Formats: sequence, structure tokens, C-alpha cells
Amino acid sequence: MINGYAAYKAKEELKPLSYEPKELKTNEVEIKVTHCGICHSDLHLIDNDWMMSSYPFIPGHEVSGTVVRLGDGVKHLQTGDRVGLGWQAGSCHTCEQCESGHENLCASSQGTCVGRHGGYADHVIADAAFAIKIPAAMESEFAGPLMCGGVTVFSPLRKFGVKKGTRVAVIGIGGLGHMAIQFAAKMGAEVTAISTSDSKREEAFSFGATGFINSRKEPDFAAHAEKFDFIVSTVFASMNWQALVNTLRPRGELCFVGALGIPVEVSAFSLLTRERKISGSAIGSPGMLEEMLEFAATHGVRPMIEKMPMKDVNLALKKVADNTVRYRMVLVND
Ligand SMILES: [Zn+2]
Ligand SMILES: [Zn+2]
Repeated sequence: MINGYAAYKAKEELKPLSYEPKELKTNEVEIKVTHCGICHSDLHLIDNDWMMSSYPFIPGHEVSGTVVRLGDGVKHLQTGDRVGLGWQAGSCHTCEQCESGHENLCASSQGTCVGRHGGYADHVIADAAFAIKIPAAMESEFAGPLMCGGVTVFSPLRKFGVKKGTRVAVIGIGGLGHMAIQFAAKMGAEVTAISTSDSKREEAFSFGATGFINSRKEPDFAAHAEKFDFIVSTVFASMNWQALVNTLRPRGELCFVGALGIPVEVSAFSLLTRERKISGSAIGSPGMLEEMLEFAATHGVRPMIEKMPMKDVNLALKKVADNTVRYRMVLVND
């Protein structure tokens, strides 16, 4: 029996739920959950904001734990291995995207807690390809938030080829942004943090930023024309996107990783004359996850977390909803 905390209805508190797991498929793995981070996506799923939730379901997709059961076909893991599991718990493995190492873009991608039970539980089951070994130097409590929020910002930095001297700007210093600053700085970039609040300045510097722009005081970014090679936007709010595009150097790129539902209006001319790009990025493939965990372990990139016992999940969810967590909440099983 697997025991967890489930959403039974939108906008209601989670309540205990126990279920008998199906027989493991040959490619599946059962993970004993030691920690599970809370992501804003969990809140959206609980409230059915994306119209994709079916109740009851156990949320949670920032899992770290140990392998306790393996399907016959799983060769790359052993029982007792420490593994992380993020947003994705399955893909088809046969489509063009899967075969080219972009499993996160598979049209048949399965979410860890979409249409199945996730990680606010004592155990969780997933396609073993998405259970990523946690390097020895990485503490379990930090691995969960890296598996979702971490890879969300690591992947676009890597894909752009951020390296020593690249000028990176990170919009928003929160659950995603504080990890983006660290990753970019450890890749050797000169990082500027962009925030609406001066209160984030010192912390941004402590994460590795060397520049800071208060976008409320400088909404037109006039003093920063053609300054950045790569801008990663983690915010959900609307901004002066044209002004931000104007801060891009030739061949620079503005990449969205925040779940932004509003249109982005910029002049095509401002893109073509400087060969600038606007792009988006979503989570990361198993290969990218592995690379990200290794990089974080080696370079000391860690999310800033608050921990609460799994049984206090409703209190923890409320803190995340109220935006009072600095910066990721992690539930701990005893
Ligand atoms: Zn997430
Ligand atoms: Zn596929």
C-alpha cells in the first residue's frame, strides 16, 4: 500500500489517500520518497487551473528518494540507489523527440502527478528512465527542487552555451531565479539580477550576481541597451518586453521559463536588425537532468530551502501559495 496526501477537489485541503500500486511494468521503478519539494505547478494542479487534473490525486513532482523495486527491464539502477524524479515520469521512447534525446518534448509525455499519483507520499512509481541517480556529493534534501525548478533554468543556460564572460540577466529572484543566478555564475557568466524589489539586491549578489536592476525604478532599461547575451525570464507578470529586447546584444536571446499566459509584443524589426531571438524552454530531458545534478553537485549550486514534515503538507502548501517561502519548500518523510 502506498500512502500519501491527495487533492480530492479543487481549492480544498489535501487529505490522506492510500492506494494499492499496480504491478510494476518492466521499465518502471518504485521509489521510497525521502523528500518532496513543493512547486507552484502543484498548486495549479490542485486547483485545476490548467484543466488537466483528475481527482483524487497525490501531487508532488520534486522527489528524492531511494529505489526499492525495479521492473525486469531496468538495468541502469539498483535497489538502494538514491534517485531524483521531476515533473516527467514517462514518455513514449520511440518518437522523433524521444529518439533525439528531447524526451521532455514528447507528445506522449506523462507528468509525475498528472493522471497518476505523485510524490507527497511514502512511495512513488515512475518510468525508470526519468529516475535520475543523485551524485554522492548532492544532499537528498536539495535534489528534489533541482529536478524541476533547477533543470528548468539550467537547461536554457546550457542550450544557449553560457560560458565564461557571457552576459546573462535573470528576471525574477524567486524559486527559479535564485537557482538561475547560481548556475549562470558557476558557468562563468557575468550575471545581472532584475527584480521589482531592492530588498532582493544583497541576496542576488550572494547567489553570484554582480549587477542588479530594479525594474520598477528603471522600467525602460534605457541605461542597459545592448548589454546582455542571454536573458532568462522566470516571472509570471507582464513587463516592458520591447525594452528588454533592446537590452540584448547582437544574436542575443530572451528565453521564457515562467508559465506566462500573456502575449509578448515586440517589434520584429528590433529582432531582425540585431539577429535577436525570443524563445521558451520547459524542464529538461533525462540527459539534461543528469548533467544538471552533476553540475550542481560539483559546483556547489544548491536551492535555498525550507523544510517541513510531510504530515504538515497543507500548512506547507499555504506558505508556498502565500509566497512566504525562501525559496523552495521541501516536505520530509520521517
Ligand atoms: Zn515543478
Ligand atoms: Zn516520445
